[in-house]
Amino acid sequence: MTSCMSAAGLCPAMSFTPIYGLSMHENSTRLPYFAEIAAIDAVLDIDVDSEIIINRVASRRVCPACGHSQSVREGEQELCAKCGGELVQRADDTPERMRHRLDVYRERTLPLINYYTEREKLVPIDGARSIYEVRDQIFGFMDGMIAEETHANYRTDEE
Ligand SMILES: [Zn+2]
Repeated sequence: MTSCMSAAGLCPAMSFTPIYGLSMHENSTRLPYFAEIAAIDAVLDIDVDSEIIINRVASRRVCPACGHSQSVREGEQELCAKCGGELVQRADDTPERMRHRLDVYRERTLPLINYYTEREKLVPIDGARSIYEVRDQIFGFMDGMIAEETHANYRTDEE
């Protein structure tokens, strides 16, 4: 038996395995592989409009001294909030590079989106909202799943 954390607290009957940036290789057979090894109950698709991602990335800077990452506004002094060091933009944080990375990501992810949509397991999450609203969407969904599971276990115990 595994355990999980959720907004509702500990749930003894379910486990959550985050798979970040799940996508397919160009010509791979990873999709059937994933479907076979993992009994996936739901796939959370945190979606953000490309232009929002590109704008976020374009304003992202990193501190070479301490590794801290932060965003800067135009005209703002580009100094690290943690150590005061001078911030730099990563070479792959340009809008052009990001647009290409997003194209590749969407192309590779689309088969998975379709696969789990067809099986009614895809849960769209609006990632353009604030971090707290995104968290609330995710926890709200998880709490719903836990409540269903608990209810199902309760019914089984009663029989
Ligand atoms: Zn720093």
